[in-house]
Amino acid sequence: MKDLLFATTNKGKLAELSALTSGLPVRILSLRDTAAIEVEEDAPDFAGNALKKARAYFDALGIAVLADDTGLCVDALNGAPGIRSARYGGVPEGILDDAAARYRANNERLLREMAGIPAERRTAHFQTDICFLIPGRPPMFFEGRVDGVILEAPRGENGFGYDPLFEASGLGKTLAELTREEKNRISHRARAFAKLRPELLNWALDKLPQID
Ligand code: IMP
Repeated sequence: MKDLLFATTNKGKLAELSALTSGLPVRILSLRDTAAIEVEEDAPDFAGNALKKARAYFDALGIAVLADDTGLCVDALNGAPGIRSARYGGVPEGILDDAAARYRANNERLLREMAGIPAERRTAHFQTDICFLIPGRPPMFFEGRVDGVILEAPRGENGFGYDPLFEASGLGKTLAELTREEKNRISHRARAFAKLRPELLNWALDKLPQID
């Protein structure tokens, strides 16, 4: 049995990883099992922040680590909110976080920043970068994205964060109008996890190619 720490407290993300590793000789640990380390997410991009998080836990615990970073990138805003997606509205993340208030502030700011931008220039994407760090290997990175447009008003009650303002390309629905299963089939995170899966299996089954 191999230990794998997923540097998250998010139950949804943990459930996704459990599904990917079910039946494998892997025990998944999370920040519900070990003390959180304060990591400043000040890298210029998602992959850099995922690496910083993974490295901090890898150095502390010496076991295989997965870490991810995600955000919404809006073309007309030069990629903002981007790496600042979590705190775009000015409400910081905290231990006793009121996530709903934070999401509301984020969405209000997004609508303010995009006021007057015509439909054809409201393109955006969600992006997730996952870093997989294991002993004796360079870090591995996996990226997933989903493209769409930012609406002028929210639609839908499901999901979280920017979901009600993001209409996925080709679907005509916001991510908040999808069921959890529908979102999990097309989401940025699902796509990054899908790319991670083969490497995770190789690692779990000791089938990673040798490095000289
Ligand atoms: P994290 O890196 O997964 O914590 O995501 C950072 C921020 O991006 C979150 O606080 C949300 O504001 C936003 N975000 C991440 N994933 C999603 C999603 O699937 N839908 C909507 N917003 C998201």
